[in-house]
Amino acid sequence: MSKNFPLPHEALEDLTKRFPTPFYIYDEKAIREYVRYFHKAFSIFPEFREYFAVKACPNPYILKILAEEGCGADCSSLPELMLSKMVGMKGEFVMFTSNETPASEYEYAAAEGDIINLDDITHIEYLKKTLGKLPETICFRYNPGQAKHGCNSIIGSPEEAKYGCTREQLVDAYRICRENGVKKFGLHTMVASNELNPDFFIDTAKLVFDLAVELKEKAGVSISFVDLGGGIGIPYKPGQKAVDLDYVARGIKKLYDEKVVPAGLDPMRICFECGRPITGPFGYLVTRAIHEKHIYREYVGVDASMADLMRPGMYGAYHEVTVSGKEDAPRDHVYDVVGSLCENCDKFAVQRELPKIDVGDLIIVHDAGAHGRAMGFNYNGKLRAGELLLRADGSVKQIRRRETIDDLFATLDLDGVKDFE
Ligand SMILES: *Cc1c(COP(=O)(O)O)cnc(C)c1O
Repeated sequence: MSKNFPLPHEALEDLTKRFPTPFYIYDEKAIREYVRYFHKAFSIFPEFREYFAVKACPNPYILKILAEEGCGADCSSLPELMLSKMVGMKGEFVMFTSNETPASEYEYAAAEGDIINLDDITHIEYLKKTLGKLPETICFRYNPGQAKHGCNSIIGSPEEAKYGCTREQLVDAYRICRENGVKKFGLHTMVASNELNPDFFIDTAKLVFDLAVELKEKAGVSISFVDLGGGIGIPYKPGQKAVDLDYVARGIKKLYDEKVVPAGLDPMRICFECGRPITGPFGYLVTRAIHEKHIYREYVGVDASMADLMRPGMYGAYHEVTVSGKEDAPRDHVYDVVGSLCENCDKFAVQRELPKIDVGDLIIVHDAGAHGRAMGFNYNGKLRAGELLLRADGSVKQIRRRETIDDLFATLDLDGVKDFE
């Protein structure tokens, strides 16, 4: 059975008359439903917050929907902080989790009252020098090193990852912050990406809760929120199963009752900063077959490229591909579905069983709503696709136009070059 797309074939063909392919389209209703499910699962905690990882889908319309649903934003750069502010996410609803951060970005975040999540113990002094004093609230990123097993390849094993502080450093880091007048403390970790094993997240919570208890004893600070990071995976491949958030929440709650409550740390806010599961399955790249060729393999050439969606080319990532109007046709052909970049990794599908594809068919690349358009680039002079929003009422709104050649040339000095010798 192939994955669903929220518009029937005729409606999609009609839409392409208004908005030529390629484009991204996001399903508002499905995004809202997923966030509600997330919030409901974690409503068993005294306090919970999901900070949407803006980098996954940095469009203010999407952020506005998420703000309405009660989410905060997890940002890693000044433009991401600015986008979040534009839609009314501010103060404790913004986590600034960056690394190798310039002073000017700390200044902006501090002025807005965003939560600053420091990546290293040496950044305490840097922040203090930048701001004149430390902010009232501070969070640190914990890198558990060998204490955390079973991590997958996108982030890599913690002891090889550049992020975060060691356990020993954190005891000193929180003590120093307390002595410098910091009043409120958070503890953060992010050790997974696209993880489908629900027990992985419960195990992460255990590490973080144990550390919060240790920090109370050794550094004299009460952690008032923990951020368990993002990393909840989505079932890109057939046969994979979505993470059961009720199961994860219940598993974490058990540990909360065993560890956090007896330590006198209740109420401690539980936070996540997921991007992928929030918008990933509810965003699609729609492209059209414009060529076919028959050499050693059968190729279908489409009008999108790796510059629109680089995950397959970059990680060999699998994305389900369907052909609009041929959902029920037998998958009796084997194709490489390819884009136009001068890179042989520009393939949306490799040796994939699909129905017979004809030039002109609309091809839907699924699960493209997170780290999709956001990771696009302009190599080979490619103009990135625009973004559409399928509203809950069935109407469609363009929320980002397609790039133009003028956009691409905007940073060039085209007048200067005429007189240049
Ligand atoms: C990328 C990232 C996230 C979001 O990851 P997803 O896999 O999209 O959930 C969250 N936090 C940090 C610090 C990140 O770098």
